[in-house]
Amino acid sequence: MDAFTLVVVSALASIVMAASMALMYRAAPRQACLRDWAIAGLLFTCNNVLAAVAFKVQLPYFVVPGIGNALYIAAHFGVLAGLRRHVGLAPGWRAMAVIAPLILGLHAVPALQVSVAHRLLVFTPLIAAINLGVGLSLRGRIGRDEWPAYAPLVMMECVFMLQQSMRTIYLIVSEDHTLTFMGSQFLQTSGSLFLLLFMAVTPMSCALIVAHRQGRDLRRASLTDALTGWLNRRALQDTAGAAFDRCRREASGLSFITFDIDHFKSINDRYGHGLGDAAIRHVTACAGDVLRGHDTLFRIGGEEFAVLLAGQRLHDVCAIAERLRERIATTPLRTDDLVVPMTVSVGVAAYSPHDKDWEAILRRADEALYRAKMHGRNRVDVHSREMAASVGTA
Ligand code: GH3
Ligand code: MG
Ligand code: MG
Repeated sequence: MDAFTLVVVSALASIVMAASMALMYRAAPRQACLRDWAIAGLLFTCNNVLAAVAFKVQLPYFVVPGIGNALYIAAHFGVLAGLRRHVGLAPGWRAMAVIAPLILGLHAVPALQVSVAHRLLVFTPLIAAINLGVGLSLRGRIGRDEWPAYAPLVMMECVFMLQQSMRTIYLIVSEDHTLTFMGSQFLQTSGSLFLLLFMAVTPMSCALIVAHRQGRDLRRASLTDALTGWLNRRALQDTAGAAFDRCRREASGLSFITFDIDHFKSINDRYGHGLGDAAIRHVTACAGDVLRGHDTLFRIGGEEFAVLLAGQRLHDVCAIAERLRERIATTPLRTDDLVVPMTVSVGVAAYSPHDKDWEAILRRADEALYRAKMHGRNRVDVHSREMAASVGTA
């Protein structure tokens, strides 16, 4: 493939990158990193089109290589900017708005006008510094489960830096400063071929990263209650099943605390459904304060909740349940013009070796909760195999 064809193919590949990222962004506008990658594709396209035109028409030095190099480095930066945005960092386009004109300005330095080689010796360390800086900023921000999705793009960036550095080291070692753009030398041609590969693999890698995150978000949403942010019944199925198996294997403790808001219907009737929702959120916020850390929280019905506690003794679980009841009873819901006292009834049950599944423990906790309601509400009842007496009353 001759150099001109290579540039044209690169231009087509970068158009595909810009278009595919833009179309994906239209379909998923919340994934703003796709916009960064579409812009990166556009910048690569401009760079390649300029390079192709330069084969046919004599362009001013400040256009090719000047603007061309600024576009090329900005395009690479765009790929990294999308990565930064995807992990929750500012993409950093502002920094590029400073660096790109600087790159263009550097072309005015007489030493850099001598050859491609001279410019490579300056720009390669600059690109390496940008890559290194972004790489360091990503450290610790990519979850272990996300690495398979990130790996192709990170590998692509590493190989890109490797081949760019090899070209530069070759220049330094050989002192051969005669390399020309798209020359016949192995390093030049392999670099151009790599660029093609980069253009083909990058959009796929970007799409993989976004698809992986969307899949994870969807899974999370399907297990989370939208009103409270607590886990839902479906999540309980998975979590409690695994906890029950562990409890049997390791003979560790497993308990459930269940609780239900007292006279909640009257809150809805009196103040409206909107305030009812706020009341549910208020109760889960209070409970979250008490239960933070070692417990798993579930909304298992309209205003019914379950807490799964692994490895705790029944005595401690009862103490936690009592703290939970007390916190809610002493923290009324306050709005601008209302103070709404709230209480919950609480049931507690612990694993017994007779239990065949976790549902048996939850059932007993529900029975204890029912008893708490029967005995006047705003209280904790504990259920063991022996139907132990209630602890902690209001
Ligand atoms: P008890 O003390 O016996 O629990 O009395 P209660 O009035 O709380 O009775 P119950 O637990 O049966 O009340 C459930 C009510 O909760 C009925 C339903 O309208 C309401 N509810 C269920 N889900 C929601 C919700 O998401 N938002 C609001 N605002 N109300 C809900
Ligand atoms: Mg209720
Ligand atoms: Mg209820």
